[in-house]
Amino acid sequence: MPARSGQEYVESLKKCAPNVYLEGRRVVDVTAEPVFQEPIRATAEQYDMQLDPAYREVMTYPSPTTGHPVSTSFLIPHTREELVKKRKHFKLRADHNFGFMGRAPDFMNQFVTGWHLMAGRFARAGARFGENATRYYEHVRERDLFLTHMLINPQIDRSKTSAQQEDPFLHLGRVGETGDGIVVRGAKMLGTMAPVTEEVAVIPFGGVPPGDDAYALAFAIPTSTPGLTFICRETVSPLPRSRFDHPLSSRFEEMDCIAVFEDVLVPWDRVMVDGSLGSGEIINTLGADFNALLNMQTSARMLSQLEFFCGLAMRLADAIGITGFLHVQEKLGEMLSQMEIARAVFYGAEAMAQRLDNGVWVPGGHGLRAFHLQSGKIYSRFVEIVQTLAAGGFFYAPSEADLANPEVRPMIDKFVRGRAGISAEERIALFKLAWDATGETFGQRMAQYVRFYSGDPIRLTAGFYMQYDKAPLLEIVERALGRREGERIPVSPDDPAGAIPYQPDTRGMAGTYATGSLPTRQDQRG
Ligand SMILES: Cc1cc2nc3c(=O)[nH]c(=O)nc-3n(C[C@H](O)[C@H](O)[C@H](O)COP(=O)(O)OP(=O)(O)OC[C@H]3O[C@@H](n4cnc5c(N)ncnc54)[C@H](O)[C@@H]3O)c2cc1C
Repeated sequence: MPARSGQEYVESLKKCAPNVYLEGRRVVDVTAEPVFQEPIRATAEQYDMQLDPAYREVMTYPSPTTGHPVSTSFLIPHTREELVKKRKHFKLRADHNFGFMGRAPDFMNQFVTGWHLMAGRFARAGARFGENATRYYEHVRERDLFLTHMLINPQIDRSKTSAQQEDPFLHLGRVGETGDGIVVRGAKMLGTMAPVTEEVAVIPFGGVPPGDDAYALAFAIPTSTPGLTFICRETVSPLPRSRFDHPLSSRFEEMDCIAVFEDVLVPWDRVMVDGSLGSGEIINTLGADFNALLNMQTSARMLSQLEFFCGLAMRLADAIGITGFLHVQEKLGEMLSQMEIARAVFYGAEAMAQRLDNGVWVPGGHGLRAFHLQSGKIYSRFVEIVQTLAAGGFFYAPSEADLANPEVRPMIDKFVRGRAGISAEERIALFKLAWDATGETFGQRMAQYVRFYSGDPIRLTAGFYMQYDKAPLLEIVERALGRREGERIPVSPDDPAGAIPYQPDTRGMAGTYATGSLPTRQDQRG
């Protein structure tokens, strides 16, 4: 099936029937569950967009196997133009929801594209594992499936390795194998959107410590696989939820879950790393160079969100006549300058794009990675500024129902309005949008998402320092110390990509944390 429509996605989901628990009850048909209606609708909109003549050109490309249009998220760029097409696709998808959907289908589409690009490394434990990665990528691409992923072990006791936990199958681990596949048991967090997806991909993140080979598992299975249960958190968008009162949270909630695997059989053709002896080493050295393309997707989302926040803050400030104050201008200028830096990084990485030895084009430099590492802080600051500018204005924004009540409407129109020319309805709508984004439980979850969606920012940033090629910067200091007298000052190159050769990353997404931060085999409280 080529790139599919929203309706086709919903029909497929209906047949899927994963085992989902929500607020104390089992959800028999996720497509009929009120809490999931809006996430499903928002996702379906994304599928429909790719068939829309206005977007089709950007959002699809001919499948290498069938020639039918498939999502551009699966495109492996072999030219700079294809990289640009991919960027346009990711940005368009992010703009659809103002960056409030981190786990729309394109994220995992790119993720499994990365698995395919790493097929040779999975194959180190046997050719079939590499073939599985490629076959799975094609499977998802040709069926346009919606995936969730679960990379993290539940916290339980972070001072211990998985094998050291009180029960060896608290963290998801390998129980054994049969002729049909491997059997896995235990839990994984945090499957965003899992109830409304069709497949779940699993791979460890952050590094596998010595002795934890049985937990070094990479595989993908349908969410409806027997033995697999998803337990959802409480909704952050309790129903009923008016679109006027909650313009974002009424549309874009992304449900999160823990997944419990009770002796789940993973068929051999869905296994990329099987948890046998030596699997930890494979995971730890998979290489993260495929992340360069994933970073495009996540940066597009982040940039869309920063653009949204800038527009919102300026509209909000204008609505109550505070844009003439110097400190307000300074804060708005701060937001705009952060956003412009982000834009320069986002588009600049493309200008520095490089062709790898395998012919794949990736964004150049380390800017997108650096942007990712700083995005949590930038986002928190944007939230703080919007809240500072809005102050108490959030809390006299009556509801849509109040606006409809003729008894209070005249009072609202008179006293709840903004500066001259800004009606009460307009001011209320803006402040509700701002509260939804920054103050509602939905907004709080989003801030936590931005901080943690792709790992622990503290260990990731430390890892960035540890892995960074520091020599050119240290060389500058040597020159300043007068130890390079007579040597020419390097002239910055015409082609920045030529000057910063892309260094394929050997750590792997599993090894992005510094080794020193992994729990050891010894009980640290010991
Ligand atoms: C809203 C949201 C959605 C998410 N969606 C997904 C998803 O779809 N799929 C998915 O797989 N994951 C998802 N995640 C999980 C995310 O990947 C993790 O939250 C992230 O990797 C951090 O791990 P953790 O939450 O287990 O924190 P922990 O690793 O438990 O860290 C907790 C605290 O302890 C510190 N700490 C813990 N261990 C160490 C150590 N060894 N050394 C130093 N400091 C340490 C950390 O710095 C942090 O301050 C999501 C997270 C959020 C918040």
